[in-house]
Amino acid sequence: MIALVPFGRVDGWLVERIERLAAKFFFNLSVFDSVPAPSSAYDHARRQYNASELLLTLRNLACSRGFQKVLGITSEDLYYGSSLFVFGCAEFGGTSAVISTCRLKAESEGLFASRVFKEVLHELGHLFGLEHCMNDCVMTFCERLDQIDVKKASYCSECLEKLTKAIENVRQTSRAHSGTPQSRDIWCTSSR
Ligand SMILES: [Zn+2]
Ligand SMILES: [Zn+2]
Repeated sequence: MIALVPFGRVDGWLVERIERLAAKFFFNLSVFDSVPAPSSAYDHARRQYNASELLLTLRNLACSRGFQKVLGITSEDLYYGSSLFVFGCAEFGGTSAVISTCRLKAESEGLFASRVFKEVLHELGHLFGLEHCMNDCVMTFCERLDQIDVKKASYCSECLEKLTKAIENVRQTSRAHSGTPQSRDIWCTSSR
């Protein structure tokens, strides 16, 4: 149901850890072979990739292979619209999301992996229609690393309940839709 697509070089151990941890939250990820980030998405002046172009690439990839949801992961720096950078973006209740590990780097591998994983859970939450949450929850809005570091690496009970229903809905309607889904609102974890 959900594809995980590495853009360019992403550490194998990190992808494996994401796959393993995500499975604990009912997300069974199918890991694709790495694909090159489209050169058209690269902004030479900003030295960053345009997240909205990557979302489009991911959506096409997901649809062509019959996946309802797709999460891209890249070590490249991303921006969206007028933001300086984004940690991640997701089509709200839509098909595709992408995260960047570029600004999540930490001195320890453990802290780095924990930041990446929180970002994965957050964007997957948006993909399944979860909004930002004021509880002690991974769906808290963050625009800085210290905010990511203090938040919980799991959903609060309210979000978990909504998520479980949303996943079930997607499973049930999985074959009801065909063709390219419409684009949705984009929610980003970013600098403003
Ligand atoms: Zn919550
Ligand atoms: Zn968010």
